[in-house]
Amino acid sequence: MTHIIAEPCIDVKDKACVDVCPVDCIYDKDEWKQLYIQPEECIDCGLCIDACPVEAIFPEEEVPEKWAAFTAENYTIFDLEPPE
Ligand code: SF4
Ligand code: SF4
Repeated sequence: MTHIIAEPCIDVKDKACVDVCPVDCIYDKDEWKQLYIQPEECIDCGLCIDACPVEAIFPEEEVPEKWAAFTAENYTIFDLEPPE
């Protein structure tokens, strides 16, 4: 399992989550509109959830249905196969 960053991060990108992640698995690139969590590096500690001022981060199994596409995107952006 992993945690997923969804729509609320878009154009916010304040990186508060990056500061609390113990394994540095939250990545940013200038050309990205949001940050992404590398699913194979995330240890599911949940610390980033409370750090996010816009509630953009969810455990993978709790991503709201309307943002389901963000789950796949958090995998494909790292060239990983998204879950079924
Ligand atoms: S759940 Fe923990 S390990 Fe995963 S991205 Fe958030 S802070 Fe990092
Ligand atoms: S704390 Fe939330 S809004 Fe800020 S960069 Fe991380 S996911 Fe995006």
